Amino acid sequence: MSVLTDLIYGGSNAVAGLTENAVNEAIAKYGADKAIAFPDTAYYFPTIYAATGVKVKTLGDLPACVGVLKSLITNQEDLGQALNAGLATAVGAEILEGLKYVEGGNPYENESGIGFVPDPIIRSLGVPLVTGDIPGVAVVLGKAEEPEQVVKVVKDYQSKGIMTFLVGDVIEQCAQGGVKMGLELRVIPLGHDVTSVIHVVTVAIRAALIFGNVQPGDLAGLLKYTKERVPAFVNTFGAIDNVVVSAGAGAIALGFPVVVGIDLGENQVPGALESVCDHNETVKKSLELREIKIKVTELPIPVAFAAAFEGEIIRKADMHNECWSNKNPTAELVVMREMDEIEDHKITIIGPDLDEAKELALVTYVEVAGKKMQVDFESVIERKFHAWFNYMEGIMHTGQRNQVRVRVSNAAFEAGVRMKDFAEVLYVMIMNEFDAVVDKCQVTLITDATEAQKFRDEVAMPRYNQRDDRLASMTDESVDRYYTCILCQSFAPAHCCVVTPERLGLCGAVSWLDAKATNELDPNGPCQPIFKEGLIDERTGRYESVNKMVASATHGAVESVTLYSILEDPMTSCGCFECICGIEPMSNGVIIANREYAGMTPAGMTFGELASCTGGGVQTPGYMGHGRHFISSKKFCSAEGGIARIVWMPKELKDDVGERLNKTAKELYGIDNFTDMIADETVTTDCEELLNWLTEKGHPVLGMEPLM
Ligand code: SF4
Repeated sequence: MSVLTDLIYGGSNAVAGLTENAVNEAIAKYGADKAIAFPDTAYYFPTIYAATGVKVKTLGDLPACVGVLKSLITNQEDLGQALNAGLATAVGAEILEGLKYVEGGNPYENESGIGFVPDPIIRSLGVPLVTGDIPGVAVVLGKAEEPEQVVKVVKDYQSKGIMTFLVGDVIEQCAQGGVKMGLELRVIPLGHDVTSVIHVVTVAIRAALIFGNVQPGDLAGLLKYTKERVPAFVNTFGAIDNVVVSAGAGAIALGFPVVVGIDLGENQVPGALESVCDHNETVKKSLELREIKIKVTELPIPVAFAAAFEGEIIRKADMHNECWSNKNPTAELVVMREMDEIEDHKITIIGPDLDEAKELALVTYVEVAGKKMQVDFESVIERKFHAWFNYMEGIMHTGQRNQVRVRVSNAAFEAGVRMKDFAEVLYVMIMNEFDAVVDKCQVTLITDATEAQKFRDEVAMPRYNQRDDRLASMTDESVDRYYTCILCQSFAPAHCCVVTPERLGLCGAVSWLDAKATNELDPNGPCQPIFKEGLIDERTGRYESVNKMVASATHGAVESVTLYSILEDPMTSCGCFECICGIEPMSNGVIIANREYAGMTPAGMTFGELASCTGGGVQTPGYMGHGRHFISSKKFCSAEGGIARIVWMPKELKDDVGERLNKTAKELYGIDNFTDMIADETVTTDCEELLNWLTEKGHPVLGMEPLM
């Protein structure tokens, strides 16, 4: 037997033995009926569920899984069979990690890793992955001989926006080396045991179930999906034992190349298992093997600029400067100009710089001109300020328009960041990302409080008001076209959003104006116009042209969709939806749950369980993914009676959408404070109690036609 297959089987057999003993001991201690589950997932033990269709719910379900695991280890001298043994190691690792959760609670509470990654986090990663904002997923495990080697590699991935999961002593090595960690910073410590690597494996596996509509038990479909659509790879540091090698074999079976930091000589498998002993080459080799291309933006600023810094929090103690609307006037505004009205790359600073005052006003005023520029794109460009300022290491930005807060850290100030760097970031990024519509761009920053206030009140506020009036008047009836968005097809191949003025994409990130701008910027790109032709049914929003376009965009997978119905050919869902609504038969209404809500709903299901009813581009009458803003739209389930059907939603969501929802209810039905009639988890999560409560409140749903 070759050294490689020998090592793989050695590791898989060792894990099989450990798993069998651990399962037997757990059953002896707690009994076979003891319930077992990972937290906040609708996919049971995801590896086992996806590969075999078996739903592990109790300890008594596990011995059969151990049997399957053992059957995958054939000990035959064949690389394909050995890779299957690697999958057995993954199953074993999942069971061993699952057993840590047998007593409930969080077994990782006192660990530096986070352990199991809940479903809502995976759903939240959908959009950044499909847009290439997260270009890849790295798994870094082991213990580097020289800690600075792994620190350098992980910081490099972070600066490229790669999502990096750490397993083993590399966690401490990176922490001590100053790597900033956290989900929002795209470096996630999983745990110290090598088995904790399964927590990133199940992220890939659940992506297949959530976005790819891979059916549980379809192992071949699962492996195809992870290989073709999940851009993950593995790096090991330091010595590796046979368990690590067999786990690596499992990764290779899923299509993830493994780059090891020791010389494997002839045991390397080109393209799948390769040695890179010079760690200066690790990142380059890993990206090459997974064919990940990084778009580099060269910026003339003294700090790093990467999406991975977007979630950085600057606390008061670390803060050098603050521009905050609560203390000083602020405004952010993009205005379209004629070509001869502005000077390209002209930067003007009016008022003190960061070394002259600690607290400043801040007006960020950008004037753009271009032959294809349109007034409607002003707000699309303006909304990008938030992300771009946050991408600067040591800068935190929140808010928009006249409600803004910008913090500059001591470290960023010491590195030399000054006001002109903000202007440079805006100039370079606008000219990069909006090059199809912007030919000239000039930036003015006003930090003088008196001048800033004058600008805000006399220029910015009237412009915001003008835009709001235009947006309010924009309805599905007032435009001649809608747009497709197929960005999510890289994960959910059968999914297509139809974006209209009154129905934004279900991720919440693509409005009709965004889709229009995307189409202008990239005419052959993901957003294509659908001209409103061939109206079949006004009530449900059924058009011949929409059906035709969706059928073509989904390669025939979906032939008929409606824009306004949850029951009749509802729009497909990909998996990264902000909210899901589903019918609640007892009250004849619909309930809504948002991704962040982890509790129970009156439908007897959590968000994750509701969400698993749809997704992957399938149409599931009665369930539908959608964006938060859609809830207050006059088109929300309008075929079934509209927002008057809403009977329950989590309190946080209700507070967030309340003002707009109440306004819509007043306009549609003349009801004041409609949200007072909508229950939330503080009222009840029981469907019978819900019905009694709605009756007490005189909710309009009780007088509506039966839904089914
Ligand atoms: S609009 Fe739809 S397809 Fe486009 S990114 Fe959002 S969810 Fe994905």
